[in-house]
Amino acid sequence: MIPFVDLHAQYLSIKSDIDKAIESCIADSNFIKGKAVSDFEMAFADWLGAKYCLGCGNGTDALEIIMKSLNIGPGDEVLVPALSWISTAEAVNNIGAEPVFVDIRHDTYTIDPEKIENKITARTKAIIPVHLYGFPADMIEITVISEKHKIHIIEDCAQAHGAEYYGKKAGIFGIASVFSFFPSKNLGAYGDGGAIITNDQKLYEIAMKISNHGQLKTKHEHTVIGRNSRLDSLQASILNAKLGYLDKWNSQREIIAEHYIKRLTVNEEFCLPLIQPDIKHVFHLFVIRCKRRDDMIKLLNEKSISWAVHYPHPLPFLAAYKYKKHLPSEFPVSCQVTREVISLPIYPELTESQVDLICDQILENY
Ligand SMILES: *Cc1c(COP(=O)(O)O)cnc(C)c1O
Repeated sequence: MIPFVDLHAQYLSIKSDIDKAIESCIADSNFIKGKAVSDFEMAFADWLGAKYCLGCGNGTDALEIIMKSLNIGPGDEVLVPALSWISTAEAVNNIGAEPVFVDIRHDTYTIDPEKIENKITARTKAIIPVHLYGFPADMIEITVISEKHKIHIIEDCAQAHGAEYYGKKAGIFGIASVFSFFPSKNLGAYGDGGAIITNDQKLYEIAMKISNHGQLKTKHEHTVIGRNSRLDSLQASILNAKLGYLDKWNSQREIIAEHYIKRLTVNEEFCLPLIQPDIKHVFHLFVIRCKRRDDMIKLLNEKSISWAVHYPHPLPFLAAYKYKKHLPSEFPVSCQVTREVISLPIYPELTESQVDLICDQILENY
């Protein structure tokens, strides 16, 4: 059985670092807003080349908190890609605004810059490009559009820790960006966690207040209506221990992806991930497209190779968004892509011989 991800293998590879980090966090017993949290926030901001990092309870909360901090709410619209994990859209609803879906590019699966402008209205306040599967969205084009129409860019970097776009890391293009540290992400905690990144000190302080019951530094001074969404010290200590390995892990993902591509390219029926100069894809997922996906699923099941589909439905066609009454003809690319995508196992500890075994089985039996 080849698993889809193997978090335990990763733990074993850095066991002494993790055990030490957890022990020292417990010895310190400062579980909320402890030193591990500020250490991680500083180290992660540094690693990205950004000024501020605010740890949050999870990536979805981070999206909500940053939109609230930007004063987005009822009556406002926020552009989101039609293909993403539900968080990108549901966070918009949860702050009282309305998500407006934009179709994706067929080759990179990220929001299609050519389809953005005709979705902009007087109510549009922001756009949330998602660097889906680890491939950066078209930030040059998106920046031009956002400046022309004066809308904020909030990057959803939940799948793109370390991705690069023309020499700059994903996460430093917009007014702010959000990350998730869900366990299976490229940088994952041992539970939930997330972060907001920004270079704007005022925005950082507003977000810090909102995430901590409306208090900034002084306890019991609640100056705005906030909430409770903080990264806890235990998770931060684990993330601190893992951050030093992230570049190496991303390189290993890249090597695995290149090997998959080299092997699978012989079958012209497969549509393989785009490799582009000046863009660093961090392969959170290794997603291919095939016309006969059911046949592919059957063969992977028979050969005990784990797989997943990211995602089976475009966001506009989930039951939760039925109220918007969208038609498939409005999102032709997302509709086609969701019928054809399949994600194959990828994680830093996956060996070349395992990749060969997966490719052998696919090439022989598809
Ligand atoms: C994982 C993810 C999030 C946030 O996830 P949380 O589980 O809330 O941390 C947001 N957007 C995308 C695209 C994701 O993949």
